Amino acid sequence: MHNNFKSGFVTLLGKPNVGKSTLLNFLLKRKVAIVSDKPQTTRHKILGIYTAKDLQIVFLDTPGIHKPHSKLGTLLIKTAKKALIEVDLILFLVSALDAFKENYAFNLLKNIKTTCLLVINKIDKVASEELAQLIEKYRQFSFFKKIIPISALYGQNIPVLLEEIKKELKPGPKYYEEDIITDLKDDFLISELIREKVLELTYDEVPHAVNVLIDEMRFRETKEMVDIYATIIVEKESQKGILIGKKGELLKQVGIKARKDIESFLGCKVYLNLWVKVKKNWRNEEKILKDFGFF
Ligand code: GDP
Ligand code: MG
Repeated sequence: MHNNFKSGFVTLLGKPNVGKSTLLNFLLKRKVAIVSDKPQTTRHKILGIYTAKDLQIVFLDTPGIHKPHSKLGTLLIKTAKKALIEVDLILFLVSALDAFKENYAFNLLKNIKTTCLLVINKIDKVASEELAQLIEKYRQFSFFKKIIPISALYGQNIPVLLEEIKKELKPGPKYYEEDIITDLKDDFLISELIREKVLELTYDEVPHAVNVLIDEMRFRETKEMVDIYATIIVEKESQKGILIGKKGELLKQVGIKARKDIESFLGCKVYLNLWVKVKKNWRNEEKILKDFGFF
């Protein structure tokens, strides 16, 4: 049947601003990760899934690796390291505009066994001699199995990149159906948009007691609309009452406002289904926090 089907998990690794989100968005044809001129927009790992006839690549978009300075930084590094050893392939992205520099991530790469391809992005911005020189410098690092120059913004050399990724992956299952483009446990950005509306519209102790989980997100067949199911978690019945409001009016407002933002973020129509649940002391219970993906 589908004997030629290949699949695997691929981590996109690279400093902030080198174009990880741009590449992901180009491949997925949709805005999944936020693209920004400001470094560090991607605070959480976002999973994007590329599915073709004979190939499925599950991308992990990690936060940029750099020396940890804060608690949050340390947490990010932990997540990133995990993402390096538990995957089938690493794409290490650098920008052709950045001068060659051995960075902190190189030390991580030297010490792991996962195959790593170097992707030099933004080649639309440099002359070919410059690019050739840069490639020479990166060649001295044997942990890069191949070096692939691309432009994520203009889609240059992306078919070659996909072909090289495919070579490194093994025959495997289609982990996700085609219409699922993100793994919602990681869909932090959408949950943040919903949480933001809750903060805007509630008062007293409610805002601090709120956490939002995305349960499911699925494209309809026409691909023009996405159904999103989310649960808003509060700590007390009284907070649930406030959040739902009289005749459900407040929750409805949260939904309307969040839907607008999510629609412009995803670039398509959204059907947003919100639930409110009570979980006592969710902030204090580590186990629950773990379930929620905070650790
Ligand atoms: P990330 O932090 O690694 O996710 O980087 P982003 O994807 O947010 O990109 C950072 C900036 O670089 C944005 O302004 C992008 O438009 C720009 N960029 C990304 N890829 C390319 C490319 O191939 N060529 C050019 N010229 N700019 C790019
Ligand atoms: Mg990014």
